[in-house]
Amino acid sequence: MGRLIALATDYYPRLSTFQTALRCACPRCGQGALYDGLLSVRDKCDKCGLDYTRLDSNDGAAFFIIVGYSAVLIPLALWLELALTPPIWVHVVLWVPVVLGGSVLLQRPLKAWLMAQQYRHKAYDGSALN
Ligand SMILES: [Zn+2]
Repeated sequence: MGRLIALATDYYPRLSTFQTALRCACPRCGQGALYDGLLSVRDKCDKCGLDYTRLDSNDGAAFFIIVGYSAVLIPLALWLELALTPPIWVHVVLWVPVVLGGSVLLQRPLKAWLMAQQYRHKAYDGSALN
């Protein structure tokens, strides 16, 4: 009987990786916080105890942001230059905050999404996560 109760309390439904990433929440329980600060990942979930140290996306999020975000911003900057030909300070005032701010804002959910995908597809080395 005790084993059945333990199994029932250890059950975690399959959560949307997109939703847990937007909330920067634990990919297993969806309740615990993933970050301890701006981009520092906690060691484990404070609700279910999932070990986050094995879910490491490394620079994956930064790579996708560099490639994807620049694919959007470079054409916009070129269009602005060709259509309006503003002075260079307009580019500096406009694009520096957009590039820096957008990169930081995208980093948290994208990193959380990559970690959630790692958890879902068990893309980690060593033994299985519990
Ligand atoms: Zn959790």
